[in-house]
Amino acid sequence: MTYKTVTLKRGKEDSLQRFHPWVFSGAIAAADDTIDEGDLVTVYAHDGTLIGNGHSQIGSIAVRMLTFDDTAIDEAFYEQRLNDAYRMRQSLGLQRENNNAYRLVHGEGDFLPGLVVDIYGPTAVMQAHSPGMHFARNIIAQALVKLPGVRNVYYKSETTLPYKAHLDPVNDYIIGHMETDEALENGLRFHVDWLKGQKTGFFVDQRENRSLLEHYSQGRRVLNMFCYTGGFSVYALRGGAQLVHSVDSSAKAVRLTDDNVALNFAPEDGRHKSFAEDAFKFLDNMEKDAYDLIILDPPAFAKHKSALRNALVGYRRLNAKALEKIAPGSILFTFSCSQAVNKDQFRLAVFSAAAQTRRKVRILHQLTQPADHPINIYHPEGEYLKGLVLYVE
Ligand code: SAH
Repeated sequence: MTYKTVTLKRGKEDSLQRFHPWVFSGAIAAADDTIDEGDLVTVYAHDGTLIGNGHSQIGSIAVRMLTFDDTAIDEAFYEQRLNDAYRMRQSLGLQRENNNAYRLVHGEGDFLPGLVVDIYGPTAVMQAHSPGMHFARNIIAQALVKLPGVRNVYYKSETTLPYKAHLDPVNDYIIGHMETDEALENGLRFHVDWLKGQKTGFFVDQRENRSLLEHYSQGRRVLNMFCYTGGFSVYALRGGAQLVHSVDSSAKAVRLTDDNVALNFAPEDGRHKSFAEDAFKFLDNMEKDAYDLIILDPPAFAKHKSALRNALVGYRRLNAKALEKIAPGSILFTFSCSQAVNKDQFRLAVFSAAAQTRRKVRILHQLTQPADHPINIYHPEGEYLKGLVLYVE
């Protein structure tokens, strides 16, 4: 198979020879002028050595590499990569009687840059983050339903594709239909709204951190801030929390949380309450010592490197508000899912918040993304979720 070609400037092959999967536009010496957004291209070093094949894209990342040899990018390629991804998840034991929600494909972490696939029972929800993956969506969907248990493929890329590409993707089933919107995570039931919800409808990346929270919940008064679908709330209730308050600025998220609580607990279990309110406002108005377990899992404050400074101020302010009012002997679960903020920067922001409130704070756990969100060792940018569990006196 021959593809259009891209030739790099001298010396710009180094990071690619170390399998970093991105070609930046500034690294390109020459390219076929017929290359369109999303086309398959073959990348060559300045001296003509073949580097591999990838998807082209307009923007600062000009090519996302799919292979580091001349393997063709066809049905067999996608089947192979998806089989590899599936086999890895099998070794993690994520598909089992009490769990059928997990991430099957995590972009670069599964050597499929630009593609995300989450599994909810019989349904795969697929997101393309690159035009190349958008054009490959039908082949990918066909390969997905060859995996055991996958019968439906929902495509959801309206908000993830670069809008300048003018691809006008439509969110819809490519294969199959709505069978059930219910998924199981560690024995808890969740409605997953992939039709209208954020991301693929659920944040599967917090599964293990929710489990850890469950173990700290016994007898505690829990505040789940930025609750979205109420994942942490439901685990806290099962863990024996005395009460759980869930807060989200989106009224729809609060409804999703209420629905998920109702799905798992009897109506006469009166421990849960939810509030459609801004987090900062809620924290300002809440009474001191009202909670002894708080979860802060905000949306990414920094979507890009340029927003880093403001994001760090945001994390400091948010954590300071919680640390100011949390009861003595409490636990704080605090997270950042901003890829642009690294572990040390996040920890420094939380340190500043602690210092500002003069509380005695110790780190009990340092949390990250689970194994179904693997980090390609050659692509450290794939590490995005950071969390700290603090003991506050
Ligand atoms: N903890 C959730 C995921 C949180 S996603 C889980 O485990 O699934 C972030 C959530 O923050 C979204 O639901 C969004 O509606 C909410 N949000 C964004 N800005 C907010 C604000 N200022 N105050 C309260 N909630 C906010």
